[in-house]
Amino acid sequence: RKLEGVVFNCSCNIRWIQLWQQRGEAGLHNQHLFCNNGVSKIPLQLMNISHCDLPEISVSHSNLTVMEGDRVTITCNGSGVPVPEVDWTVGGLHSINTHQSNQYPPNVHSINLTLVNISRDDNSFMLTCIAENIVGMTNASIQLSVQFPPVIIKFEEPQKWHDTCMVFTVRANPLPTLRWYYKGEEIKPTKYLRPEMDLYQDSLEGCLIFKNPTHHNNGNYTLEASNFLGVAVKTVYVSIAVGLAGFACVLLVIMFVLINKYGRRSKFGMKGPVAVISGEEDSASPLHHVNHGIITPCTLDAGPDAVVIGMTRIPVIENPQYFRHGHNCNKPTTYVQHIKRRDIVLKRELGEGAFGKVFLAECYNLSPTKDKMLVAVKTLKDPTLAARKDFQREAELLTNLQYEHIVKFYGVCVDGDPLIMVFEYMKHGDLNKFLRAHGPDAMILVDGEPLQTNGELGLSQMLHIASQIASGIVYLASQHFVHRDLATRNCLVGNGLLVKIGDFGMSRDIYSTDYYRVGGHTMLPIRWMPPESIMYRKFTTESDVWSFGVILWEIFTYGKQPWFQLANNEVIECITQGRVLERPRVCPKEVYDIMLGCWQREPQQRLNIKDIQKILYTLGKATPVYLDILG
Ligand code: AMP
Repeated sequence: RKLEGVVFNCSCNIRWIQLWQQRGEAGLHNQHLFCNNGVSKIPLQLMNISHCDLPEISVSHSNLTVMEGDRVTITCNGSGVPVPEVDWTVGGLHSINTHQSNQYPPNVHSINLTLVNISRDDNSFMLTCIAENIVGMTNASIQLSVQFPPVIIKFEEPQKWHDTCMVFTVRANPLPTLRWYYKGEEIKPTKYLRPEMDLYQDSLEGCLIFKNPTHHNNGNYTLEASNFLGVAVKTVYVSIAVGLAGFACVLLVIMFVLINKYGRRSKFGMKGPVAVISGEEDSASPLHHVNHGIITPCTLDAGPDAVVIGMTRIPVIENPQYFRHGHNCNKPTTYVQHIKRRDIVLKRELGEGAFGKVFLAECYNLSPTKDKMLVAVKTLKDPTLAARKDFQREAELLTNLQYEHIVKFYGVCVDGDPLIMVFEYMKHGDLNKFLRAHGPDAMILVDGEPLQTNGELGLSQMLHIASQIASGIVYLASQHFVHRDLATRNCLVGNGLLVKIGDFGMSRDIYSTDYYRVGGHTMLPIRWMPPESIMYRKFTTESDVWSFGVILWEIFTYGKQPWFQLANNEVIECITQGRVLERPRVCPKEVYDIMLGCWQREPQQRLNIKDIQKILYTLGKATPVYLDILG
């Protein structure tokens, strides 16, 4: 920015510009800036304002090693004049957490963060504390190491599509020692039988590989994983002869519906409970294939552009949303804001999304009033040319979607690798996690005592959340935009219970890894889909309304998974037969009526999203008497 010759008033308000100039940021070092101290005009470099400095920050630990289930309190002190605002960023944290703020006059602000029933999913989490005043922001971090005993997540009989590999996944911290036994005797690796594995943070994934197996290899194989906290053992019976004969037959039936069950995200990055549907043989898949669970054979005649669920043919079509901008439309060209790489400073990982990792970052020169601000950045590593084009199209699309209940998109950074999209940072992370952390289950976890500060969400708060999402969908519908993947996991929560739709369904189609493209997989969030989307892949504003009904159900169950009691193939059966989710325990009849209105089988009979938004808004604003009656 050009400020050459500008004369400010000498005050603490412009100390940050002086600091920028001292650090040579934004090209200010060779500009002549001045301030007026009431007596004369002096060079800004000479301004001497007392009691006006960047906050100092200190945290109680540097690294913190805890056991799963522990409770721990960490402290962050921010001091200085002006006294800074201090806070821990906890978006993406799984453990229940509470903040407690203390002010120690004259100039220290201290925040205790208590983590309760610490979760293994927070292993390696970087807890960052931020202190900010008018002069700027400083931060400090504590890296969490959560120790837990081994669990064998997977140890499977050789599968037909990798006939010489017993896939295994083991999680533990510290990393476990693995041993294999055959008929009770420990296996010493040979070139005919050996393990191969990769390390991912706190899990080991790999294969026990058989070379040229014969029926002599049949029998019980045991995997034992141990660390100082415990031992996990799993035994699997292997029948090679049957497996290989079966494999020969199965060459004729090369299409499977591979249903990806719960748990950690798949390598494709889809969140939580979605079905993974494979439309073609996956020749390029690595040995430790991520698909597992229920396998439904599909018939060949479905063709390469179709998959079959049960007996229904489902055409696979590219998301039409991609083509709304750029090439074939008569809208003016969209100019996507470009952000310089050196203006983005990554701080820590927030999560993994459909197309890559999501980080908390500081972004300089974005806001006219602040030198830097916190943002969330989504990264896409090593993109192919096609992925780059898709990235550009998505950026244009997001640039055009601007609304108070849609997460704000700031721009892209494309000078170098990875490609980056910059979004506003939503402090409380995704809505599903937020709901769980504010539900009754979160309450019982604290040493047998209810946890006060997290607080269970009340009826009016639930209605407020729902009405904001509905408002976002009204906007999307007004733009003729069909989302296709509305769910609480794709909404984000900011300060003051502000909720926004934060992730766009089509991004997973565009930004999956090369592995995803080669494999020809399509992932469908079936638990949120109406019959016509499951059966015919028909996605419309009305199918978004159905998904919104499921979002309502998620909100009123504090983030339960829809049809949690059913496996994916059972869910498909249930939905296509016309069954709907039951009324949640804390859900008023009026709200369940809205859900039922969203789940009409005929799309035209479903409620209109505008009407839904109005009803929810009115219910939310309803008198306390009404709320009392609901109890
Ligand atoms: P996504 O790519 O949207 O699936 O993002 C993966 C995870 O990153 C989400 O579940 C959130 O926990 C986190 N995340 C994504 N975007 C943001 C954001 N704008 N602010 C805060 N956290 C985010």
